[in-house]
Amino acid sequence: MPDADPNAGTPFAPAIDAHVHVFPERLAEAVQRALTTAAGWEFPHRPIREATEATLADAGVERYVALPYVHEPGGARSLNAWLAEQAGDSERLLPFATVHPDDEDVGGIVRDAFEAGARGLKFHCPVQECAPADPRIEPALEAAAEYDRPITYHGGTAPMYTEDPHVGAAAFAEVVDSYPDVRVNCAHMGTYQVSAFLAMAREHDNVYLDTTFAMSTEAGRTMEFDPSTIGDEVLIELSESIMFGSDLPNIPYPYRAERAELLGRDLPTETYRDVFYRTAEAFLGVA
Ligand SMILES: [Zn+2]
Repeated sequence: MPDADPNAGTPFAPAIDAHVHVFPERLAEAVQRALTTAAGWEFPHRPIREATEATLADAGVERYVALPYVHEPGGARSLNAWLAEQAGDSERLLPFATVHPDDEDVGGIVRDAFEAGARGLKFHCPVQECAPADPRIEPALEAAAEYDRPITYHGGTAPMYTEDPHVGAAAFAEVVDSYPDVRVNCAHMGTYQVSAFLAMAREHDNVYLDTTFAMSTEAGRTMEFDPSTIGDEVLIELSESIMFGSDLPNIPYPYRAERAELLGRDLPTETYRDVFYRTAEAFLGVA
């Protein structure tokens, strides 16, 4: 059952959700079980595409980015192919591609995925143990530049990676400096180094941040982050760099909590349109 959504029809809709996960059912359930074990979270959302899309449709989300990632080498081609198939059955799904840094033919896997319709690329730096500009993924970054496809990274230190050498603003700055033509998004507002990531977004047109988890009303409980530390003036100033995302279905709260904090701010209509729609269009190159 999708959750009934009292916020539909607010400045939120129509929206693009730039950060959603769609995996084959067994894998998706394993991901949620692992998160329950690690963090004690219970999920009100079944991790299957139909349920996810019902929740999004209820909220007024027109399109969403589905982010895959592989934990081990060898699985990227089949996961990318599966996601491309899902996109063929969906009017809303914009598929990204995955590759593992230790895959053979990193560049070939990514090129084939782009040829098959993938709209961008996703790296989960701590899980895949690779920095944003790791030499092993250079062929993937070059393919992204050549095909003009954006990249979303879990590139910040939240929620439990403060000691991880693959994440953080310094590591992220390397990809920004080396690939100035590639649009790169650091998920979760770059938490916990928000000021450094905001500064990068201010300085570079190709740097984006998504609001996923960090701007939810539950961020204090789930990741010990207070979204109100990012002021209205920052959202207004950087509305062309900040886009809405949710992490659905892997959020231990109702979907509406991802936007309730933002909607509670009384921001200008233009800021809301950017954050909830236009910035994602620009990032994706689908405007
Ligand atoms: Zn995510």
